[in-house]
Parts: sequence; C-alpha cells; structure tokens
Amino acid sequence: MSPDVIVIGAGAIGTSIAFQLAKAGLKVMVFERGRVGGEATGASAGMIQLNPDRGTPPAYAALSTESARLFSALAAELLERTGIDIGYRRAPLLHVTLDEAEEARLRGHRAWQLDHGMTVGWLDGAAALDLEPALNPAVRAALLYQDHYQVLPRALAQALARAATDLGAVVREGAAVDRLLTQGDRVIGVALGSETIRSAETVAANGAWASAWAEALHTPIPVRPVRGQMVGLSTTATPLRHAISSSSGYILTKADGSTIVGTTVEEVGFDARPTTAGVAGLLALAPRLAPRLADATVSGAWAGLRPGTPDGLPLLGRPPGWGGIVVAAGHFREGILLTPITAELVLDLLARRRPRLALDVFDPGRFRIRAA
Ligand SMILES: Cc1cc2nc3c(=O)[nH]c(=O)nc-3n(C[C@H](O)[C@H](O)[C@H](O)COP(=O)(O)OP(=O)(O)OC[C@H]3O[C@@H](n4cnc5c(N)ncnc54)[C@H](O)[C@@H]3O)c2cc1C
Repeated sequence: MSPDVIVIGAGAIGTSIAFQLAKAGLKVMVFERGRVGGEATGASAGMIQLNPDRGTPPAYAALSTESARLFSALAAELLERTGIDIGYRRAPLLHVTLDEAEEARLRGHRAWQLDHGMTVGWLDGAAALDLEPALNPAVRAALLYQDHYQVLPRALAQALARAATDLGAVVREGAAVDRLLTQGDRVIGVALGSETIRSAETVAANGAWASAWAEALHTPIPVRPVRGQMVGLSTTATPLRHAISSSSGYILTKADGSTIVGTTVEEVGFDARPTTAGVAGLLALAPRLAPRLADATVSGAWAGLRPGTPDGLPLLGRPPGWGGIVVAAGHFREGILLTPITAELVLDLLARRRPRLALDVFDPGRFRIRAA
C-alpha cells in the first residue's frame, strides 16, 4: 500500500518528522541511504544551546527557543515509548577566554544577551576555576550558561525511528532515493532504481544532500556540506562538570561517559573523513582548555557534514509553485537543537494548519526571489 508521506533521510530531522507524522495517524515510509543517524546527526556533539547574538533573526531565535523547550517532554516520551535514553541532561556551559581582547568582546556579547532576556553569568578567572577546577588556570573570564542541555544524537535518531516504527512507520535503511516523481506541479512520489513508490506528500529531509532535488523542482536549494571534525577521549579523571567552549572549540563529557572535543568548520565538499590537521588541532585544544586531558587517551576521530545554507537559516516549507513536497533541510550547526520544532512545523504544514511559528524567513523559495 502507498504511504501517505515519504520522508527522505533518517537523520535527526527525518526521524523526528516520521515520528510526529506517525503519531498523527499518517502512514509514513522513510528512505535512508545509509543507517539511521549515520551522517551529520551521528557525528554531532548534541548540544542543546541557545546562544543568539545581534545578528540572529528574531524568527530564528523563536524557533530555537521553542525547540529547546520541547526537548524535555520529547526525551521522556521516547524513553517511555522505546526504553531508549537519549541522554538528555543539563550541561551548563562555560564559555571561557584566555585573552584580554576577547574578554572585552564577551562583555559586549553578554550585555546584549542580558538585554534580550537571557540568563548568562559573568565569572572572573578565579571564580571560573572555583566552579570548574579542570579549567586552564590561565583563564581570564568566562560566561556561564546554566540552562544548557545535551543529548546523545545518534540515540535520539534511533529512538525517534523506533518510536515511529512502533506506530506503523516503515524505515528502510540502505535505500537511496534517486529521483522525485513529478506530475505537473506536484511531486507524486520517489524512485529508487527501477522501484517507484507513490505518496500524497514527500518530505526532503536529507540534510547536506538536499540540493539533489533542485533540478527536478526547478528551484535553487543551496544547501552545501560543511565538514565538522570531532575527537573522542577516554579518561579516568573526574568528568568535567561543565561543557567548556572557547572561540577555538569545545569539550564536553557525554551522558555515556565519553569526552568529546570539537570542532572544525570546513568547506571541502562531500568528504566526511577526519584529517591529520583537523584532529591535531582538536588534540591541542583539549589540554589548552582543561590541562588534565593531556593524560586522556584518544578513543576515536570522526567527521560529519553539516547542511549549510547561504544565510545560515534552514529551509522549511514548500518549494515555490509545488504541491506534494516539503523541504526540511539546511539546519547547519543546530540541527539537533532544532529537531523537535522542525517536526512539529512539518506536521502543521502537512495538516494544512497555520504553522505555530512564522516560517517566512525559512521559505525554501527565498533564494529564487533573491536571484530574480
Ligand atoms: C561535528 C558536528 C557537531 C555538531 N554539533 C551540534 C550540536 O552540538 N548541536 C546541534 O544542534 N547541532 C550540531 N551539529 C549539527 C547537526 O548535527 C546537524 O544540523 C543535523 O544533524 C542535521 O540533521 P539532518 O537530519 O538534516 O542531516 P543528517 O543527519 O545528515 O541526515 C540526512 C540523512 O539523509 C540521508 N540521505 C541523503 N541523501 C539521501 C537520499 N538520496 N536517499 C535517502 N537518504 C539520503 C543521509 O544518508 C543522512 O543519513 C553538529 C554537526 C557536526 C558535523
């Protein structure tokens, strides 16, 4: 039987959409070229952080705030439905600086955030060390974000896929969609090799690969891969009490006990392999932020391709002039944070309800308008 909705891609975004649609009673079929959560999602640090600045569009700030709010209930629901703990934990963040010029910039950033209703503390070096004794004693100052959280991103995607499957969705791994099937101005399904599957709606949630549909839809979908490398460390030392970030990267202890160090931001096309230079930079960063990590052992290195867009905002909505398709891609560096709200908004669109948040700035047609 034909599904009501086909979802292309089973990262955090696609699985979250599949879960919400299945919960709403729709027949959903998900096609994933590799494994559930096997690309950007599985590579991610899984931080659920709000860190707007003066350049953040208000609609994006509203989107992230609402998504962060939805996480706690989602984590509890997934645990109850699937028994999978997605590692949703409070992970207070210390954003540190060892540099005088950077200290002045952080003061300005904090003033702006306080003016915009955020709770962010200021610590001098001694106070920061008191709070997180693992820090480099040369720390000059730190911003403290008490209300930041984290998840285990691969577990998040796996739990969402399981919950969707339990509700009747079909998730096919190792199944690459080659083409969209179109009829007039509608997408009517997808093709995988010689196999065709029809559906009333298709959701393109294939992350960094979403530009593949631009030609069929005669619409620019300028989502590009932006590589991020990560290193995993094992240590018997006391876990870090905080996630620690700096202008050069971050370290944090995950709910499974691992410590991860990230990350790079590289425009190297569809190449998700870690490199000597990338890994060396991260290995140097870890003991600079927390000297005791010099004794940690290296447990792994990996990389993922973030779905970047020209304006840094996701594409969420129907491509101009098309029915039967919704694009939900381009979540760049915050796709884990944006997982819950993206699915709720896609459900609103497919149910032809007014979306609960304004979507104009995320309109997938905005690049065509600019080009014209
Ligand atoms: C190193 C790193 C650290 C990060 N840290 C954070 C963080 O701390 N917090 C945060 O919020 N975000 C973070 N991100 C960003 C976040 O990981 C991404 O924004 C998010 O995972 C995007 O999810 P997605 O489902 O759109 O993409 P993906 O997880 O890449 O999923 C897309 C899926 O589509 C599949 N696919 C592609 N083409 C096809 C096709 N033709 N047919 C079938 N399937 C297809 C792929 O195989 C893939 O599994 C980080 C990213 C990286 C790389």
